[in-house]
Amino acid sequence: KDLIREEILSIKPYVPGKPIEEVKRELGLEEVIKLASNENPLGASQSAIDVMKKAAEDVHIYPDGNVYRLRKKLSEKLGVAENELTFGNGSDEIVIMLGQAFMNPDDEIIMAETTFSEYRFSANIMGGNIVQVPLKDYTHDLDAMLEAVTEQTKMIFVCNPNNPTGTMVGQEEVEEFLEEVPDDVLVIFDEAYSEYATSDDYPETIDYLDDYDNLIILRTFSKIHGLAGLRIGYGIADEEIISYIDRVRQPFNIGALAQKAAIASLEDEEHVQQSLEYNQQGKKYLYQQFEELGLDYVPTQTNFILVDIEQDNNQVFQEMLERGVIIRSMDSYGYDTKIRVTIGLPDENKRFIKELKEVIRD
Ligand code: PMP
Repeated sequence: KDLIREEILSIKPYVPGKPIEEVKRELGLEEVIKLASNENPLGASQSAIDVMKKAAEDVHIYPDGNVYRLRKKLSEKLGVAENELTFGNGSDEIVIMLGQAFMNPDDEIIMAETTFSEYRFSANIMGGNIVQVPLKDYTHDLDAMLEAVTEQTKMIFVCNPNNPTGTMVGQEEVEEFLEEVPDDVLVIFDEAYSEYATSDDYPETIDYLDDYDNLIILRTFSKIHGLAGLRIGYGIADEEIISYIDRVRQPFNIGALAQKAAIASLEDEEHVQQSLEYNQQGKKYLYQQFEELGLDYVPTQTNFILVDIEQDNNQVFQEMLERGVIIRSMDSYGYDTKIRVTIGLPDENKRFIKELKEVIRD
């Protein structure tokens, strides 16, 4: 018999970056800045840090498996019922749970050709088939995604705003799309960066939940709330869909510290506001610098920017790394000369531009 499942053999392992301390040691650098994973450069809210310190005294106790208080808080804040929410060890985990709960081998998932890779991973684990639809002007092409639907289609993933392009699909387009998707296809809107979207046309997908039982919205505490290291995200959907996801959810998948910190983060609206202001300011500065350098970039609705540095991106990545600035090369997304940079704090953005100027001039 085969020891290893065929599906698993075809999965390429995720290769994580090295810890910053290790990079510093290897390169002999005092200061390394990471603008590679779209984290919040301001860090977490101070009140989230304070509640975690206190909660650390009780870590011998299992966390609340029902995520009772955070569930209540989110339900009030979002105006959805408590049983329309589920939680994951990062929204990554919810993407995996969706595969486990709904995907049969040879079911199809439709996703953009250039988008977040976790959707592909989830389908791969379950032996699903992946149908990739090219972006149009760096944006999800919802019409083409609709055309790709077949009898086998189980899920359609729409990353909105999209990672790694930073683009979004607007209200009217989303409404038409939801209307056209067959009822037996799940539509997943991954809104990890929704809080950063500045366009008035950004869809309030929560308002569509009453009309579409096949709609699932994913959000995270990793980005605007600055809690990436804690691993906590949530899903919003019709209660029946949520009940199936919960069948595959581990009883204690959300740690006690994460639950407490998430509540404190939701309450700290000032921190969210400040994070948005820094992001806006950083975005403006980086746009201006890219324009001065004559580099094309994709206007963003997120906390990162896709920019064309018109040179081999792996080489630029390596040279930037040696100068202590970690960015993301986009070659694995099919772009040979583009990088993705997270918008940092003012000093970090300046440092990134200073080093970038030298690297691309060489
Ligand atoms: N969705 C998108 C589009 C992302 O970019 C990320 C983070 N890279 C995630 C989901 C995962 O978020 P989490 O940390 O909640 O697993």
